[in-house]
Amino acid sequence: MSSIDPEKIKFKTLYSAEDIQKRIETLGAEISKDLQGEPVMFISVLKGAIMFTADLMRSIKAPVTLDFIGVASYQGTTSTGTVRITNDLSTDIRGKNVIVLEDIVDTGRTLDYLLRMLKQRNPKTLKLCALLNKPAAREIPVQVDYCGFEISNQFVIGYGLDLDQRWRELPFIAQVYET
Ligand code: 5GP
Repeated sequence: MSSIDPEKIKFKTLYSAEDIQKRIETLGAEISKDLQGEPVMFISVLKGAIMFTADLMRSIKAPVTLDFIGVASYQGTTSTGTVRITNDLSTDIRGKNVIVLEDIVDTGRTLDYLLRMLKQRNPKTLKLCALLNKPAAREIPVQVDYCGFEISNQFVIGYGLDLDQRWRELPFIAQVYET
């Protein structure tokens, strides 16, 4: 999909607010079980993962701390191919159980870059939890340890995900199509 005018888009609900909450509860239970009571640090990838982070945090039964990292790679509906850090962590992750929370894994470029960078900071464990995964779009392999929903190769918005900074506030996830 090339450029879409954010004012003229049409969209169709893919996952309702209720679908999302149900899936997050299950995901939270799975992560809590794996943690076995050990503390975890969530690294939320700005800005798309904010809603997911807020909801997932509340479903974890273990001590949780939170930090944010800003990464940019997209313009409109197209990946620019280059990844850059726009906002680094404010805390040290050395020796910690870290789970990176991402809105969506598409080509895999962002997470490949980010996970490599974080690994160099010597966390005790480093895992990835993505709300959405688009395996058909993958260009670089990335291990998604926890995944909310697998979707086909389509552009989605809502529940934190944007189109040129719009539509993050939608409580559901929707598929965008051109008019
Ligand atoms: P990747 O580096 O895996 O290609 O892309 C990861 C980033 O691209 C995501 O964090 C997200 O910001 C953006 N992205 C990829 N696919 C979509 C999509 O379908 N909708 C939206 N809103 N952003 C996407």
